[in-house]
Parts: sequence; structure tokens; C-alpha cells
Amino acid sequence: KSAKFSGKVALLTGAGGNIGLACAHRLARSGAAVALLDMNAQALQAAEKAVAAHGVKARSYVCDVTDIAAVRDTVAAVVAEFGAIDFLFNNAGYQGAFAPVQEYPEDDFARVMDINVRGAFHVLRTVSQHMVARRFGRIVNTASMAGVQGPPNMAAYGASKFAIIGLTEVASKDLAPYNIRVNAISPAFMGPGMMWDRQVELQAKVGSQYFSTDPKEVAKQMIGSVPMRRYGNIEEIPGVVEFLLGEDSSYMTGVNLPIAGG
Ligand code: NAD
Repeated sequence: KSAKFSGKVALLTGAGGNIGLACAHRLARSGAAVALLDMNAQALQAAEKAVAAHGVKARSYVCDVTDIAAVRDTVAAVVAEFGAIDFLFNNAGYQGAFAPVQEYPEDDFARVMDINVRGAFHVLRTVSQHMVARRFGRIVNTASMAGVQGPPNMAAYGASKFAIIGLTEVASKDLAPYNIRVNAISPAFMGPGMMWDRQVELQAKVGSQYFSTDPKEVAKQMIGSVPMRRYGNIEEIPGVVEFLLGEDSSYMTGVNLPIAGG
């Protein structure tokens, strides 16, 4: 069969998580072979099984993106196994703590930066070396609306996602000569799921002037700030990622697409 992405190989990070897995399903349905990377071995195993059901080649790789040597070895293993990497969905991430900046825990700030910025950079750097050699690559980084307008109490996460949008712009310029496009997506409030529940609960717990101390009320406040008056469903992300990886976006690079309900 000649599906849209048949013959293509996609590497996805954070592939055991909500957004990564949803995108893996979409790319597999479109015929791509998929390499799934995550540090959560259990989630990864389930993901590999689910994705392989689409009849494409799927392999999982347990890897912590903050470990440079592990990233290098994993990317080499993926290239050896699949022959190439055409698409990178650079998506692993961690939300961090919720606290006003003057009280934000130092160690958590470092951890968020390490995963969301340094980790994403390692993966991007390593995979793009392979893509430069092949003169082909399509990369999508997962940023966030927290990287467009800084939300209260999320110093590390906000800063990390602003950094991802910056990294996307720089990489798009550095890699343009090699037929590699680099774009970003910025989801906002997505649900249901861990990130949504955690954010509602922890914003309530901070007790800042911006949100109620009742999580149910916080959920209403957040949704009330969205023009479309609902949170986004995880399933509203994969189509956008597929668009940016595919040739319908052939003249787009360095952009950040909000998926935010307005
Ligand atoms: P998730 O927690 O379901 O998935 C994140 C995945 O990343 C997990 O499987 C986790 O194991 C993996 N991961 C974390 N640290 C890692 C590391 N060091 N090495 C390898 N893997 C690691 O969350 P999600 O909603 O699927 O988030 C995916 C991306 O989307 C993240 O970058 C997140 O910041 C971003 N995002 C999410 C939302 C949302 O509301 N869900 C909104 C905006 C942006």
C-alpha cells in the first residue's frame, strides 16, 4: 500500500506519554515506521505494542534525553535498525513545580531545564547530524503556550518553553541549507490527563492572586480564559504534527503553531 508516509521513518521522544503516543499512532496509520523513545520503560512497552498494531515497524528505546551518551547510542541504534531517520518529533518534557519565582525550588528549575531544554537540544543536535548527511529532515519540537506568554508560578517550565521556541528558530536557520525544516507546536490546556489534573491541583495549592484555591474553580478559570471555552483534546494535536512533518507545509520552517483554542 502507498500510505502518505510509507517508506518514512519517524523518531518520537516522550513516546510513552499522552501526546507522543497519540502522534505515534497517527504517523503509523499514515504508514511511517516508528522508533519510540522514552525513559519510562513500562509506558514504552505498551506504546510499542499498540503502535505496531497498525502493521508498521515499531521499536522502542528506553533512553533518558538528559544523558548525552545514551542519546548518541540510541540514535545510532535507530539508524542501524531502520536505515534512516526522516522525521523527528522532539517532544519529551516535564512540567515542573508550581511556585512563585521567589520561592521556586532551585533543584526543580535545574531539572526542568535539563529535560526540556538540554535534553531537547541533545536529541535535536544528534539527529540533525544524521539528517544533514542525508540532506533531508523534518523536525517538530514540542513547545507550549507557556513559551509564548509566561504563566504565573511556572518559572522553569515557562522559561524552558520560551527556549524551545528560540531553539526552533535558530535550528531552522542553521539547517535550512540541508533540506531540513524545523518547526514547533504549542499546545495550551490539553486534557483530560495527568498534566491537566496536576496543573489545576498545583495552581490551586499555590494560592496566588491568579487562581482560586479550589481546583474545580481553577479548572473553570483556565477554561474561561480560552476563547473556545474548552480544553483541547490530545487527539487535536497529531494532525498538526503530521502537517508540519509532511509536504503540505513544504515552505514553512522556524514557525511555532499554537494549538490553544484561540
Ligand atoms: P506526558 O507526561 O504524558 O508525556 C511526557 C513523556 O516524556 C513521558 O512519557 C515521560 O516519561 C517522558 N520523559 C520525561 N522526561 C524524560 C527524559 N528525561 N527522557 C526521556 N523521556 C522523558 O505529557 P504530554 O502531555 O504527553 O507532554 C508531551 C510534551 O507536550 C511535553 O514536552 C510537554 O511539556 C508538552 N505540552 C503538554 C501540554 C499538556 O497540557 N499536556 C501542553 C503544552 C505542552
